[in-house]
Amino acid sequence: MGKIYIIDVTNRDGVQTARLGLSKLEKTMVNIYLNEMGVYQSEFGFPTTKHEIYYLRSNLELAKMGVLKPIRLGGWIRATTHDVETAFKYVPEIKHLNISISTSEQMIQGKFLGKKNRSDIIQMMIDALETARTKGADSVGVNAEDASRTDLDYLIKFGSAAREHGASRLRYCDTLGYDSPFTIYETVKAIAEKVGLPIEIHCHGDLGMAVANSIAGAKGAIDGGQDAYINTTINGIGERAGNADLVATVLAITKSKGFEGKYELGMPIDLSKSWEISKFASYAFDVPIPINQPGVGANAFAHASGIHADGVIKDPQNYELYSYSELGRGDPEMVETGTEICAGEYGGISGFRHVMGKIEVEFSDTEDADRILTLVRYANVESQKPLVEKELLFIAKYPDIAKQLLTLRPLDTP
Ligand SMILES: [Zn+2]
Repeated sequence: MGKIYIIDVTNRDGVQTARLGLSKLEKTMVNIYLNEMGVYQSEFGFPTTKHEIYYLRSNLELAKMGVLKPIRLGGWIRATTHDVETAFKYVPEIKHLNISISTSEQMIQGKFLGKKNRSDIIQMMIDALETARTKGADSVGVNAEDASRTDLDYLIKFGSAAREHGASRLRYCDTLGYDSPFTIYETVKAIAEKVGLPIEIHCHGDLGMAVANSIAGAKGAIDGGQDAYINTTINGIGERAGNADLVATVLAITKSKGFEGKYELGMPIDLSKSWEISKFASYAFDVPIPINQPGVGANAFAHASGIHADGVIKDPQNYELYSYSELGRGDPEMVETGTEICAGEYGGISGFRHVMGKIEVEFSDTEDADRILTLVRYANVESQKPLVEKELLFIAKYPDIAKQLLTLRPLDTP
């Protein structure tokens, strides 16, 4: 029986969301958190976008050093030969790619404006896929953008061509959040059966069904005889109404009626990191966690009504499906209410030593401290907010990588 794997796309779909973004250091921290949690792959960015290059290269270096291991780092590009060549020119070490092209009649007509037909789309995808394989990609996922509005026979033809030319997976993109659990189950099952490739499920929340559709799609893939790869983002941050929330999706897979113990994760996810990763993403994106967010919202384990409170005191299982401790919650949170020293972009050595001393980082000499302080200042310039402990520790531990990450020298500009 097939298994379910998580491919988190916060560093791609999340950061391309209107009004939101992450610094390169914050993107790196997201990869570190995802790796600690046991996520199979992080779609870590755009290898054809110049300002991403140093970040992507340094994260691949972290992978080589064993810091980002076993997580796989996959880049996202358009399915064109030009994009594949550019990706390998800028990031020669990249090993995993997802290549994307629109497949619905709406988008073929509405985006290519009569310049491409259905066969052209398949040919473009094949050319890009073959180029990626030739250039040394270990895995290539082929994305059918707007798959939920694509004619099923054409989608199967598209997927079969991808399989014949060496694709590792087919990504079924419900780009507009148009599917329901009923439709996505049937469609993905048919594709899995007929195409014979593992299926990625990429869902959006425009109709409030991103998580439900994701697990229904995964069930379709598995019932069709294939592995399923669900695309998530932390806190569901993504285009428009967002994507399938990482924590909620894992909870749905492991706790929901009829799913638990039957449709299982291929790699265990450490749910006890949920609280930490959600809080970090909320801080880094500067988007509060909704009070009623599954698992990590302030009210997820709060009870006020008499009957519920009484029930939960007698036995939490009366009104709680899972425990807060499973999600890494329960420790009291310390909030500074007195004098506080923050490491900022205009900070000095004395304040910096104080901040680092609190998290037990020691420097060999003043030169060493100065060097790390400079990097922390640059990180602050980029993020415009005090760095969290984990970021400070990262910079102190990997100053050379941090230096690369924080390099924002425009490439190839006249
Ligand atoms: Zn998307």
